[in-house]
Amino acid sequence: MSEDAKKCTRCREIKPVAAFANTDKAKDGISNYCRICQSEYYKAWRINRTSPTNSNNPKQKSASDKVYRAVKRGDLIKPDQCENRTPNCIGRINAHHDDYNKPFEVRWLCDGCHRTWHLENGPGANK
Ligand SMILES: [Zn+2]
Ligand SMILES: [Zn+2]
Ligand SMILES: [Zn+2]
Repeated sequence: MSEDAKKCTRCREIKPVAAFANTDKAKDGISNYCRICQSEYYKAWRINRTSPTNSNNPKQKSASDKVYRAVKRGDLIKPDQCENRTPNCIGRINAHHDDYNKPFEVRWLCDGCHRTWHLENGPGANK
């Protein structure tokens, strides 16, 4: 590896140092993630932090708990992919409720799609 190249610890590609941001956190002053990985990382981080599933709404919480227990029992299957399957799907899969009075009517949406749903539709019914 030459001095002006560095291996990204996320995508594991060796890239020119110019492809990495400078940071004082790293020993060599260069970020361990390339710029592309870094921006993806922050995007995912922001979405996780603003996930609507983190709300403290009691009805929403009880609906999520019911789903969680049903998945544990095997009554509901949690898929490992978002229902929308867009190329932009990101983050964990969430059990989303259109109507919180129907806890077992679930859409399985990734953090990205889940957030978009609520941005477009507001909170679910009977919240
Ligand atoms: Zn990378
Ligand atoms: Zn998705
Ligand atoms: Zn939701």
